[in-house]
Amino acid sequence: MKIVAYIFAAILVFFGVLFIWGAFSPQGSPSWILIGLISVGIGLVIIFFAARSGKSAAASGQNVTLNVDLPGNVKMDTLKCQSCGGPLAPENITMVAGAPVVTCPYCHTTYQLTEAPKW
Ligand SMILES: [Zn+2]
Repeated sequence: MKIVAYIFAAILVFFGVLFIWGAFSPQGSPSWILIGLISVGIGLVIIFFAARSGKSAAASGQNVTLNVDLPGNVKMDTLKCQSCGGPLAPENITMVAGAPVVTCPYCHTTYQLTEAPKW
């Protein structure tokens, strides 16, 4: 959704600049400057709002990782590698497509953490 807004805004700014540019060409008309300015203005407003919504989305994304980190610290005491039984630190667990994936530092096994521990 944000990418679509950026592309749309980029097209608006692009054509706005073209209109302003064209207004100074021999076959151009001065009224094109106005059209171009409006087009660029709308495009910049869309970029502004898209950037603002992106910031809030990044903030909520930070909250998600924070929520993931907390149970990760809790289960750190009990979590062991399914392959070699070595103790796993929270750094060994990465979020891939919303699912916790364990990469064992001892045997280098990578597997998805499917079983739900006590949390
Ligand atoms: Zn292991």
